[in-house]
Order: sequence, then C-alpha cells, then structure tokens
Amino acid sequence: MTNPSASHDIFDPLLDVPPVAANAYGRLADCVKRLFDTTSDILFVQAEALLALEAAAASLARPGLAAVNVVTSPYGAYFGAWLRRGGAAVTDVVAEPGQPAEAAAVAAAITELGKVDLVAVVHAEAANGSLNPLDEVASLAREAGALLVVDAVASAGGHPLDIDALGIDLCVLGPQKALGGPTGLSMVAVSQRAFSAMADAARPAPSLLSLLDIKEAWLDRGRGALPGTPPPLEFRALGAALDRLEAEGLPARIARHQRAARASRAGLRALGVAPWIADDGRASALVTAAPVPEGIAADDLIDAAARFGVSLGRGFGDIEHRLVRFDHTGVRAAFPPVLANVVAYGAALEELGQRVDLGAAAAAVTAAWQKEG
Ligand SMILES: *Cc1c(COP(=O)(O)O)cnc(C)c1O
Repeated sequence: MTNPSASHDIFDPLLDVPPVAANAYGRLADCVKRLFDTTSDILFVQAEALLALEAAAASLARPGLAAVNVVTSPYGAYFGAWLRRGGAAVTDVVAEPGQPAEAAAVAAAITELGKVDLVAVVHAEAANGSLNPLDEVASLAREAGALLVVDAVASAGGHPLDIDALGIDLCVLGPQKALGGPTGLSMVAVSQRAFSAMADAARPAPSLLSLLDIKEAWLDRGRGALPGTPPPLEFRALGAALDRLEAEGLPARIARHQRAARASRAGLRALGVAPWIADDGRASALVTAAPVPEGIAADDLIDAAARFGVSLGRGFGDIEHRLVRFDHTGVRAAFPPVLANVVAYGAALEELGQRVDLGAAAAAVTAAWQKEG
C-alpha cells in the first residue's frame, strides 16, 4: 500500500470509473462507422489489435479454405499461422525483408492456385515503413471472388482507406497508431459476406476469438446488451481519441501523417542517407525507416540518439538490426518530433564516424514542412 492513510471515499478517476453503457458503446461503433464511411458492421475486440487479427483468422479459417497471405512483416506471418491452425491451406507471398509486396507476386500466387477463397494483406506497416499495393491486391481479390482481409491497424488515419470501395470484407483497425488512441481495444469492420463465411467456418465457440459470438451477443440482440465487460478506461480513451479525430477531420489527419513522412524522407536524403524504402509511393506515413549503415550496431545508434532524448524504434523481425524507425503516428505527426528524429539520427551517425550534413537535413525537414502549410 503506497498510502495506508488514504481514505476510500475519495474519488479516484482511475478506479471509480462508471461502466460503459450499452448506448455509449453503440455510439462509439457508429462514430467509427461514420468516420470510415463504411456499410460494414463495426465490432469491438476488447484487446490489442493483434488479438483482433487472431480473432479474424480464427473466425474465418476452416479445413479446405484456400488462402493467399501477403507477408511483409511478422504480423502477416502470424496471420498465416493462425489460418493454418484453423485448417486452412495457406500460400504465403513473402516480400523482400522489410519491403512492400509486389502485386505481380500476389497475382501469380492466385493464378497458380486457380481457386482462392481468401486474400489477406497488411495495408501499411509500422514495423518497417512499407506501404503495400492495397488497391491492386484488392482488385485481384475481387476478380478471384475471394474474401479480402486487411490489417489496417497502423494505416487507419494515416492513409486513405475506402473499405467499401475496395471491397474489404474484414478490416482490422487499431486505435493506437495514427488514430492516437488507447492500446487495449481494437475495431473490426465486418461485411455481410464475411459474416456468412464465418457461419461456414470451423467456429471456435464459445470463444473470445469468435467474431460471430460478438455479433450474436450484440448486433443480433439489437445492441441492447453488451458483449462481455468493456474496459471503461479504454473505451473512454477511445471516445476521446475519436472526438479529437472528428475535430481535426480524417482527411486532415491523413494529410498530417503524409506530411510527416515527406518531411522525414526529405531530411534523410539531405543528410546523405537513402530512406530504407526507396520509393516514396511505397512508403508508409506512420513510420519512416532509416538504414543502420554497415559496420554500425543498431544498439549503438539507438543509444547515441537516446542521449539527445530521442527514442528511435528498433527494427522488428528479420530486419531487426538493419533499420531504425522514426515513429510519426498520432500526436507525433508534428514538426518537433519529425525534426528531432532526423537530427538525432544524423547526430548519432556522426558520432559513430559517418559523414552526414546535419544543417542540410534540418533545412530540408523545415522546407518540406513549410511547403505543405
Ligand atoms: C501495430 C500493428 C499491429 C499490432 O497492434 P497491437 O495493438 O500492437 O497489437 C498489427 N498490425 C500492424 C500493421 C501494426 O502496425
């Protein structure tokens, strides 16, 4: 006990939180639906987004399901593993380490299989800064008549995402990246077609991984009763994040992330360093990845930047030691963090014996930021 004399009748905003009422829960779902302008149903998964992805796979997988699964980070690899666990026959289309997928490789996998029931892809990666060719993958999935599952956990709020126009059947959204919200819950937009497919799947029931269980407990009962016990702190934080997003506007939020990415990339090039993702059109607006030069240890680079008070993200998965990440999601999609990331990375490289142009980098970030004011 940190304070044995504390009285229990003093209101504590972290402990004495009113429960989430059914109508407030429904309003949050409606707000997500309105913001993303989709006819799909919005379900909440009361856990971080990785669990929502696992639930999507668990809810759709069945023996005999033929899936093409695009892998551009560990997240895609997990998704394939979860589909296989449910008996699906999964063809992974694996991109070069840390790079975006090639639509042609996805097309070739679909052609080779002949019949494909499901295509899964991550939209934009926070793990390595790549942006997958979602439009092309979506049209390939439509042509094949396959269900389309998209991990938009990171991209929602950072890239344009038209769930209905792309024909996304199941779209997982995460509040804590570009949406600037809490980490402990996530959203899934589910089409009628995806619900129908779930009815044919090897349904895990009763299970917190079953999206059909959530639908039946909540949607099919007119949203009058809650599916489980929503964590009130997380739901209140989501409400605050959505209020902030509505005030800013989704297009402005997306533009702010795009601006942060362009300024970061301009800064890197002016330093004299090529961004990890070479092509601007294939780079994510959530994080900008910068290379760890040959002969330098990623940890030394991260430690040197930390001495400037800047926290560079470590690489993730098979490219763990080859890149560092500048996080510019949510409130970090702003001039001060973007400038600090580039300059601290450059200063760290300089300390470790590399030749960079810090002044040119700062000027380039500033000019790129100003240009889009
Ligand atoms: C962050 C992220 C996840 C995982 O989200 P958590 O909330 O950390 O579980 C999944 N997919 C992508 C593309 C992400 O960027």
